Amino acid sequence: MSIGLRGLVFVLMILLGACATQPAPVIVYGPPVDYGPPGDPKNPPQGTFQPNAYLRLCPGMSVSNAPPHDSERWVIDFNPVIVVGQIVMASVPVNDVCLASGIGYRAGRMHEGIDLTSRPPGPVYAAAPGRVIEARWSSGYGNQALIDHGHGVYTRYAHLEYFDAGVFPGAEIGYGQPVGQMGATGNAEAPHLHFEILTGDYNNSQGSKGLAVHSPFGFPAYDFSGY
Ligand SMILES: [Zn+2]
Repeated sequence: MSIGLRGLVFVLMILLGACATQPAPVIVYGPPVDYGPPGDPKNPPQGTFQPNAYLRLCPGMSVSNAPPHDSERWVIDFNPVIVVGQIVMASVPVNDVCLASGIGYRAGRMHEGIDLTSRPPGPVYAAAPGRVIEARWSSGYGNQALIDHGHGVYTRYAHLEYFDAGVFPGAEIGYGQPVGQMGATGNAEAPHLHFEILTGDYNNSQGSKGLAVHSPFGFPAYDFSGY
């Protein structure tokens, strides 16, 4: 029996913004997910994470490789829940962050991911359900976790201060479950999350370095109209 959880996990909340940093109404919701039968080990429960509906470039910061944004630095047509191949995921797996860097050349070097930061540093969540295939130190990335979401889609979470107890190679992880804490391990000047959406086949001679990295801002929004 396969029970779709999609209807159950769709929660729509509208918060009328009185906060100076989020002047626009904020719509938050979890992406619809279908893990398969309840109780299946490959059916980890989803966490309580709900992505923010809007994303802003970090104030007072010259943001390299910024996606299109308006005069108040809000990312135009930001999609909090996107479709990457056959995977529905949160495009920004942290709450109340600003965008410090996009993907592209930065100071003469390719920046293969997006940088997200908040003060104080916050928890980092799994962008979609999957299986942890790496949770270890890597030069440059510091403490980094890599999640295999199936169908050739992966996400990487780098510069973590620490890993959550449930994050180890082989662990199944649900959407919105904690991965760790935003940190500044590896090549990072200040606490932030370096986040990558990757596609390809991990079983290549270069492992995760052999995967293709994509900007979260280039994928279509998940269509919630059926829910
Ligand atoms: Zn980065």
